[in-house]
Amino acid sequence: MISKTVLVTGGAGYIGTHTVLHLLLAGFKTVVVDNLDNSSHLAILRVKELAGEFRNNLSFHNADLRDRDALEQIFVSTKFDAVIHFAGLKAVGESVKKPLLYYNNNLTGTITLLEVMAAHGCKKLVFSSSATVYGWPKKVPCTEEFPLSAANPYGRSKLIIEEICRDVYNAEQDWKIILLRYFNPVGAHPSGYIGEDPRGVPNNLMPFVQQVAVERRPALTIFGNDYNTIDGTGVRDYIHVVDLADGHIAALLKLDESDIGCEVYNLGTGKGTSVLEMVKAFELASGKKIPLVMAGRRPGDAEIVYASTEKAERELNWKAKYGIDEMCRDQWNWASKNPYGYGSQKDSTD
Ligand code: NAD
Ligand code: UDP
Repeated sequence: MISKTVLVTGGAGYIGTHTVLHLLLAGFKTVVVDNLDNSSHLAILRVKELAGEFRNNLSFHNADLRDRDALEQIFVSTKFDAVIHFAGLKAVGESVKKPLLYYNNNLTGTITLLEVMAAHGCKKLVFSSSATVYGWPKKVPCTEEFPLSAANPYGRSKLIIEEICRDVYNAEQDWKIILLRYFNPVGAHPSGYIGEDPRGVPNNLMPFVQQVAVERRPALTIFGNDYNTIDGTGVRDYIHVVDLADGHIAALLKLDESDIGCEVYNLGTGKGTSVLEMVKAFELASGKKIPLVMAGRRPGDAEIVYASTEKAERELNWKAKYGIDEMCRDQWNWASKNPYGYGSQKDSTD
């Protein structure tokens, strides 16, 4: 059994909670730092319950990454073997309206974290990047060597952080950094006890579909049905959040190997699914009809994006296990048990 201690920033969030649970079950001591800006303390309590006998290996700090003193305190009190860095703002539309908020939070938070890590001799990092850095790819599947671009401040913050990490490694080669480019995380833990609970109107497809299914919203708007795809709707690589969580354990194990340097890996399934195919799979899993409204393309959206998974399979020894039927089954299980996420109808922002 592994007995290492990992700091997880943003560990109360969607991907963070699932990863923290897997870390605990794999025997890691896990410390979460999260300012609960887009999450709930209840999520941490639920992770503890799911972790059973490992629950006491999880501790939580309600702090902002940009609060250097708070972060210092955490590093003074615990010696970390590695950091998984999820904390960041992620709503594309909001990033266009409030670029400085996004650059301040995502960049200042990351720089502060890297500085404090270096000061305490912790130089192993796994960072949450995104397939958004591939922009509108000229061909698919996307390999890690593809040219990078950003269509909005959120994407640009990911690109800049990737560059910062490469520079940090080039300057000091005792750093070991893995940049994980997630494709489209969906689904929830099969218990239906933890899942995605975005604040306000969801930007992403599946949280929106889920809210239509529980009658919080009347219909799903389809952004474009004139793409050059199987049915005209956009194609993405949806990946079960449980598979994604496992990818982080694989990355941590990889960091323990020598000479990794600063490496990037796609985490996806390698399969493309259209919006309408995804809606159909969700209808089947839930028995609910999702009313649709056709609309124009969303600015900045790519036509077809899916991953080449070869590098992760080969070097991380990791491969996604679940398909869209399981993703939709688990998404519905979470939605039907928690129609208002971690909150209640009373405090929802609908
Ligand atoms: P999330 O919003 O559920 O989780 C992020 C967490 O970070 C939240 O709990 C939030 O409260 C916390 N946080 C934000 N800023 C903070 C700060 N300054 N200090 C402390 N805590 C802070 O998002 P998620 O879906 O779990 O995504 C996790 C990471 O993965 C993010 O960096 C996101 O950009 C990236 N990512 C997500 C997706 C996706 O579709 N979900 C895709 C690609 C990449
Ligand atoms: N999409 C949609 N309606 C929505 C949200 C998303 O039709 O309310 C489409 C979107 O145009 C894209 C796909 O669903 O083709 C996935 O969108 P999402 O925002 O989840 O992921 P991303 O575009 O960032 O990969």
